[in-house]
Order: sequence, then C-alpha cells, then structure tokens
Amino acid sequence: QRRPEELGNSARAPKRKAYDFGELPQIKQLQMQRAAADMMGIENPFFRAHDGLAAGTTMIDGKQYDNFASYNYLGLNGHPEVNAAAAKAIEVFGTSVSASRIVAGERPFHGELEQALARVHGVEAAIVMVSGHATNVTTIGHLMHKGDLILTDSLVHNSIAEGVRLSGATRINFPHDDLNALEKLLADNRHKFDNVLIVVEGLYSMDGDFPDLRRVVKLKQSYDAWLMVDEAHSIGALGESGKGIAEHYGINPQEVELWMGTLSKTFSSCGGYIAGSRVLCDYLKVTAPGFVFSVGLSPALTAAALASIEIMEREPDRVAKLQANGKLFLDLALKAGLDVGPSAGYSVVPVIVGDSVRAAMLSNQLLARGINALPIIFPAVAEKSARVRFFITSEHTEEQIERAVRFTAEEIEKLMGEGTAVDKLLR
Ligand code: PMP
Repeated sequence: QRRPEELGNSARAPKRKAYDFGELPQIKQLQMQRAAADMMGIENPFFRAHDGLAAGTTMIDGKQYDNFASYNYLGLNGHPEVNAAAAKAIEVFGTSVSASRIVAGERPFHGELEQALARVHGVEAAIVMVSGHATNVTTIGHLMHKGDLILTDSLVHNSIAEGVRLSGATRINFPHDDLNALEKLLADNRHKFDNVLIVVEGLYSMDGDFPDLRRVVKLKQSYDAWLMVDEAHSIGALGESGKGIAEHYGINPQEVELWMGTLSKTFSSCGGYIAGSRVLCDYLKVTAPGFVFSVGLSPALTAAALASIEIMEREPDRVAKLQANGKLFLDLALKAGLDVGPSAGYSVVPVIVGDSVRAAMLSNQLLARGINALPIIFPAVAEKSARVRFFITSEHTEEQIERAVRFTAEEIEKLMGEGTAVDKLLR
C-alpha cells in the first residue's frame, strides 16, 4: 500500500463529500428558486399527473380541463385503430424487441414504419430510433466533426445543440429566422470549413413560426452546404395533407439532405427518425451510436406510429381542422391584444408575458379556471420572453379556443394590474 505522500497533491487535499449533491451550486440555486416561488404562493405547475388520455380535454386530480399542453396534434393518441395496432403488436411480439436491431432486434414492422416515413417525406429511405432527442444528438454528433461548421437558427431545440457539441464541429447561431444573417455567415465562412450543415426547424416549438425554406434551400445550394430540417412540430400541421414544410412550400423534398422528425407528437408514439437518401440512412444504420448501441423501437410504439401515419394519410380533414383551429386561436389572440410573438398559428401559439413569475402565475390562474397550458420560463427561453405556450390540436372545439383566449386576456389584465405587487416580489 502506498503512503499519502506518494499519491501526490490531490490525495492530500481535504476530502469533499462527493455524494452530497445538495452542496452543488446548481442544485442550491434550483432549491432557492423553488423556495422563493413557494414564498410567493406560486404552485409548481410542472410534473402534474394526468389521470387518463390527454386530448382536447384532460383529467388532472379527478377534474376535467380544456387541454392546450399536449402534442397530440391530430388527436390520434388513443384512436381505436392506433390502440388496436399496438395491442396486436404486443400480442405477437411482446413488449420489447430485446436487442439492438443490428443484432437480434430487427422485426418486419421496423422496415414498414421506415417505408411509411420515407413516403410521407417523399424521400428514398428513413431510419427510426428510440427517442426524438437521441435522434438529433446521435445523427448530428456522428455525421459532423471538428473542422466542420454547423449553422443553426438561434431557437433550435436543445437536442440539436447537444448533437452539435458532441460532434466537435464549430457552431455559429444566426438570429432567429434572419436569413440575411445566414447568407452572410455562409459567405464569410464557407471556405474555411470542410463540410457545412445548416439546421432549421419546420415549425419552431417555442415561437410557432417557420422559416422561408425556399430561400434556405437556395442558400444551401449556392454555398454547397447540407440542410437538416427538424419537423417535430410541422408534420401533421403544415402542408395540405400534413406532410410538413416541403409540402407547404411545394419544395422537392430530395433537395434537403436530412429530414428529422419525432414519433411522439402527431404520430402518437415515442421515438425519432431521419428521412433522406438511402446512402445516408444505410450509413447511419450501421454506424450511428444512438442506433447501433441502443435497442430497436418497441413493437407497440412502432405499430402505433405506423397506424397513425396511415390515418393521417387517409383523413386529411384532421389536418385542415388543426390548421383552422390554429388560425382561429391566433386571430382571436391578436384581436384580444395578446403578444403571440411571430407565431403563424398552426400547432403552437405562445402568449408572451415578459417574466417567469408572471408566466407561472398566468398558467396557475388558467388552471384554476379549467384550462391547462404550461409556462415556458428561463432558461428555456430568455427571461423577458417568458410565456405560456398553447399547443393546438384538431380536437379542440371553437368554444374551447374562444374561452382559452378570453380567459388568458382577462388573467393577463389582472396580472398587469397587480404589476406593482408582482414587481415588488421580483425585486
Ligand atoms: N426536436 C424538437 C424541435 C422538439 O421540440 C423535440 C421535443 N419536444 C424533439 C426534437 C425531441 O423529440 P422527443 O420528445 O420525441 O424526444
């Protein structure tokens, strides 16, 4: 056994209690924030358990609410056909595929789902993974390297940012939706890097707007860059038959290298995917760590996604209803003088209130009046643009939408009226 002086300085340093997470500054800060919210009487709006299926309405603690907090955009979660497909898959294949697909986890339904996704996006192939978040992390992290450049809209999802960090590539953000800035970045930097990837979303999850994809495609062509579009919130919402932003603009989908999407929203399941060329998908299938070293998508989740796609393709009225609902919400909110940022309606409409305390209070007040819509607070968005975010679905009635906007306007009025009291608390 070695004596302490042989172990170097670190062995003689006073011992920290490594197990005491409560001492970590970031945990202390979180605890202080919660204590401050408790002092202000602001109930924690997060992690509330729903008693059953969350669609246009939901049950929480035995009470029914109008629900504007679920991604169930086309109301397919709980659809009898989707449930039956999932149940049948369990009956035949059990609840897990029990291995990575590359070894013993491949089942016929994986290929069927990938074909359906490729069809929706109008491209050659697709690859499905067990999480939307992991899909972005592993795909970007694996495809891009040090010496490459990734240009991202400043509002892209955390999973994209994490993928960029993992890749080791240089990341430059361009201001949200500012394509002149993107063009300048390409002009100034393209020649300094090996491969360049531009990442945008088909519909931004915080602001509910979408980019001028025709121009982004032209830019990526002029500057010889790849383009990745995250369609988490635009599939089912944009385009006449819900096929997303390419359909909305009439763009040839094969001009975009990577279409990314999630199965957890319109497709009422769980998982993520990349759709694109066969060469790309085949490569990811044998090399992307988040795919190769992870289990294959479960039978029930695969079957649920597949059934959801088939219903979306068969029933475009659902898409039309979602779009009409999104427009109605937006029009009424604008008429009521609410700050909806740049939202275009469709699936996401934020109501910006300007600070995290007010956003949490507004959400709680709405809950007290029978409406479930959650606050988005710092650091998810900048403090001054804290908001309550409304997810719109095809299931909402006009009456629910009218009531949600009216109650929101009334509660904001009260909150601003109490401005001085809230401001004192904030100081
Ligand atoms: N991309 C975007 C834009 C998202 O909003 C989300 C999650 N909300 C994801 C990716 C991750 O998808 P999932 O929740 O299905 O893992």
